[in-house]
Amino acid sequence: MTDSHEVTLGAVVLPGRAGIYTLTLRGGAVAAVEPWIGGDPRWVGLPGLVNLHAHADRAFAAESFRPASLADAVAAAAKARATFTAADVQMRATRFFEHSIAHGVTRVRTHTDVDAVVELRSMQGVLSAKRAVADRLDVEIIAFATARNDLAEPDGLRRLKHAVELKPDLLGASLNSSAEPKRALDALLTLAERHGLPVDLHIDEHLEPGRMLAPMAADAVIARGMQGRVSFSHLCALAALDESSAKALIDKMAHSQITVIVLPESNLLLQDRSQATPRRRGITLVRELIAAGVKIRLGTDNVRDWFFPFGNGDMLETARLAAITAHLDDTSELVSAMCGGCALLREGMPGDLVLIPATSFDDALARRPDGRVVFKHGCRIV
Ligand SMILES: [Zn+2]
Repeated sequence: MTDSHEVTLGAVVLPGRAGIYTLTLRGGAVAAVEPWIGGDPRWVGLPGLVNLHAHADRAFAAESFRPASLADAVAAAAKARATFTAADVQMRATRFFEHSIAHGVTRVRTHTDVDAVVELRSMQGVLSAKRAVADRLDVEIIAFATARNDLAEPDGLRRLKHAVELKPDLLGASLNSSAEPKRALDALLTLAERHGLPVDLHIDEHLEPGRMLAPMAADAVIARGMQGRVSFSHLCALAALDESSAKALIDKMAHSQITVIVLPESNLLLQDRSQATPRRRGITLVRELIAAGVKIRLGTDNVRDWFFPFGNGDMLETARLAAITAHLDDTSELVSAMCGGCALLREGMPGDLVLIPATSFDDALARRPDGRVVFKHGCRIV
């Protein structure tokens, strides 16, 4: 039963809650969740999927590529990105956003390259793409100082300041590539504080404990009173630390209210890469972080580019990989990680949700079917 003000959806199972339900959407929100009396389940209902780490500006830019290492991917990407125009970034980012919407993603956070390779062309292209999908997808743009834009250098910092004038939603940087990471971090956090912007760092995307920057960055967050304003993406090296050092860092991160964005696809592909078969997974200590009270979120990271040649922006695929590689067995924790902290679709929530044609959460993860029905602000958009 549907009219312009109210939508009723039956035969829905809600991961994390026993039973089968009818959902009523009204006034842009989930107005009611009531028992369904009418037979077998047909849909799995989830809050709108949230992809908290993407690179829409580079998506679909490489047809086929196998990086020899993370550094190799950075070099190949830089060579190709030199030819990017704002128009082709816009076209590819729009394609990525449309894929995301079709999968049931209602919010995307995208790291957008700022460096001497593309200057502000990627920012301009992604901003245009964001405007084009604004009524169907919440896009948060991170002005991202890449590995080729060291914020410890005056030119790098000046370039990011120009990007801030384009009104990004967050600031980010790839810290491990800086010649002076502490100085780069200080510059970034000072700029973020001045403009009231949260920060998301690409940090410790390697497996060498001696190169870790997360302890220093967590200290800086506490010293500046930026608790709850900073996220760490990747943090692979945490899994290479000895037990007591890992515990000390995890406790410090819990104290600084740092959110960790886990990126199974790219970490599995790029970490422990050599001529031999990888022995280490490259996935951060997800379960220990959750146990300590650290918020865990998921992102697809790169899609069809030099860092990751596969993927299509489907958070069900990312969640499946997180379940496999991090043994994230608890359904509520997994749903929370893939839905921006929302563990269950419930009455009173905003009407951003996806119905997946499946009979259970595991059925949805196993098949990741097409034919999803997506609502934004209570209106059907797919
Ligand atoms: Zn990334």
